[in-house]
Amino acid sequence: MKASTYPLVDATEAARKVLELTPVLPAESVPLAGCPGRVLAEDLVAARQLPAWPLSAVDGYAMRSADAGGRLRGIGESAAGRPFEGDVGEGAAVRILTGGVLPRGADAVVMVEDTVVDGEWVTVPGRVAGGANVHRPGSDLAAGELVLRRGRPLGSAEIGLAAALGVSALPVHRLPRVALLSTGDELVEVGLPLGPGQIPDSNRYALLAALRESGAEVAVLGIVPDRADDLRRLVVEALRAADVLVTSGGVSVGTHDLVKPLLESLGDVHIGRVKLKPGKPFTFATLAEGRLAFGLPGFPVSSLVTFEVFVRPALRKLQGYAELQRPTLPVRLGYDAKAAGDRTEYQRVTLVREGEELVARTTGSQSSSRLMSLAGANALVRIPPGPDGIPAGTTVEAIILSLPA
Ligand code: AMP
Ligand code: MG
Repeated sequence: MKASTYPLVDATEAARKVLELTPVLPAESVPLAGCPGRVLAEDLVAARQLPAWPLSAVDGYAMRSADAGGRLRGIGESAAGRPFEGDVGEGAAVRILTGGVLPRGADAVVMVEDTVVDGEWVTVPGRVAGGANVHRPGSDLAAGELVLRRGRPLGSAEIGLAAALGVSALPVHRLPRVALLSTGDELVEVGLPLGPGQIPDSNRYALLAALRESGAEVAVLGIVPDRADDLRRLVVEALRAADVLVTSGGVSVGTHDLVKPLLESLGDVHIGRVKLKPGKPFTFATLAEGRLAFGLPGFPVSSLVTFEVFVRPALRKLQGYAELQRPTLPVRLGYDAKAAGDRTEYQRVTLVREGEELVARTTGSQSSSRLMSLAGANALVRIPPGPDGIPAGTTVEAIILSLPA
């Protein structure tokens, strides 16, 4: 059986290889309303300064700071969007509202609370610094300044910045189109009655959620029975529109495991087994025109852990993210951790705050069929192979999936 001839690749080496062979998708121009969560494809440089004019930061009176302590004559008003047209000379003041342009001749604004108003006359404090309460042109952003670096995901603040600069669309990387399918004669649509030996296709929904969280546009192909010709037909058809193929099941060494031979016939299989628990049969291939194929193991936890380790960073690279990996934090192991066998084990943990520290508690049995080991886990900790393991109390770097409540 050909599958068993694949060398067992170190998990870190396999993750590196996947990223090395993953391209970055081209950019497209997207109107700001469609930009949340997209990744900027080019640096954004300010074409103009912000603010463009000297603006008042408060409601009050615009005046010359040299007139501090005086009784000044109000000669008009500057409201946001309706500037005062004249000059502010000696002994004059202009009523100004927040966001109003500072009139010519004035160099400061006094807050209305600090003045005494009597008809058209306004008495201002004895000390008024030049520039007081004035939002100088370019004080928020200078023209030519680097505003956002490419590779950065766009959130509300970034999109607001672009809008403030008058930019209505941004260059962002295309989203990866992923075709998702589940293989196995035992699989049944979730919700339908089960015959003897049948199970619901739970991986489809778990992987669909993981793919969407990672920014992919997903075409769900559904269940394919363990028949080579059906599988080939569906995959070839799906690859016409997809950048990435993600399958679950059918990659371990068994007569019904059809994914590896199919990928061998369609492209180059670079990884067929990894020294990783859970997830040893993980398979990765490159196909024509920069397409990628990930054959994930069928066991539910194995499919999600290999998704985390290999697929998520690749999807981020495709989308142009500068940062491909989850953040890590030092945590104290709350249990004696041992990797079963000779593979690096990604154990699922719940993080609990104890004083200044985060403590990693095990989610229980780490069996690859037990989704309960992943539900509610905040983090993964990498336990190297070997008989010694890592004793409780040791500080390790945890891969953070979500922050503890
Ligand atoms: P396989 O990798 O096809 O040998 O499958 C390994 C194990 O994962 C078997 O117990 C399968 O029944 C189970 N499995 C495979 N595909 C799925 C799926 N889509 N949803 C839930 N379990 C699955
Ligand atoms: Mg199977």
